[in-house]
Amino acid sequence: MLCKYFPLKFEQFLNAVCFSALFCEVTFMLFIVLGDITRSHADAIVNAANTSLLGGSGVDGAIHRAAGPELLAECRTLHGCETGQAKLTAAYRLPCRYVIHTAGPIWRGGGHGEASLLAACYRNSLALAAEHGCRSVDFPSISTGVYGYPVLQAAHVALKAIMDFLRDHPDMDVRIVCHGEDTLHAYQLAKRCNEKRVMAQAVEWGRRGARLNAIAPGIIVTPLALDEFNGPRGEFYQDMFARYPAGRPGTADEV
Ligand code: ADP
Repeated sequence: MLCKYFPLKFEQFLNAVCFSALFCEVTFMLFIVLGDITRSHADAIVNAANTSLLGGSGVDGAIHRAAGPELLAECRTLHGCETGQAKLTAAYRLPCRYVIHTAGPIWRGGGHGEASLLAACYRNSLALAAEHGCRSVDFPSISTGVYGYPVLQAAHVALKAIMDFLRDHPDMDVRIVCHGEDTLHAYQLAKRCNEKRVMAQAVEWGRRGARLNAIAPGIIVTPLALDEFNGPRGEFYQDMFARYPAGRPGTADEV
């Protein structure tokens, strides 16, 4: 099963990888795909804008070109957007319904609150999408172009912020649309690091006799492509869930 809004015009959809996180009885999904976000048919796409919201280069320029001049006209009425915040407009000639404009942080070495501002971009964009009834949201890799955020570090922040949000909104589908192989590989790598960290923690808790209730937020995540659930890796996860049955949501009772 792939996203329902997926008429996927993205060129290399086969590069898609899927996060499927089992969270109590809820499954949520975060896809990482390669493509051009202006071709997205999601309910909302996110624009990595600047604080003026008056257009720029990179994905911002591509979105404005594809949407037509009406988008800029609406953006002028919004009076800018602070870093980490998000504002919503119509999508005009784009195939999606809304454009959510967020201003990512400019990388200044990492000690100036960049990570929390970047996480806020994802969180606030998703909250705005949810407020407007969007079920599907596509993001570019915010701040990793002209704003110079190291892409692997940005990927860690993005995946965590999105997964944290999806736990409370499991009905939403989110994709990160990477505009090049390098970006895609960084997100894939971040995904694998997350998997290893999560598994190490789970195994450690199991060894200490913890009842792994739930699949604590951010703890048990199974970043498997859906068809992998039927293979040996899926069996491994399912076996673990069977041995450590879910209890109170969001906790792990350590003994
Ligand atoms: P920022 O100023 O936030 O760094 P950029 O637009 O310069 O924003 O880059 C953000 C990311 O968007 C980069 O990874 C860039 O490759 C990517 N990007 C550029 N054009 C598109 C597009 N059409 N679709 C998706 N991503 C894009």
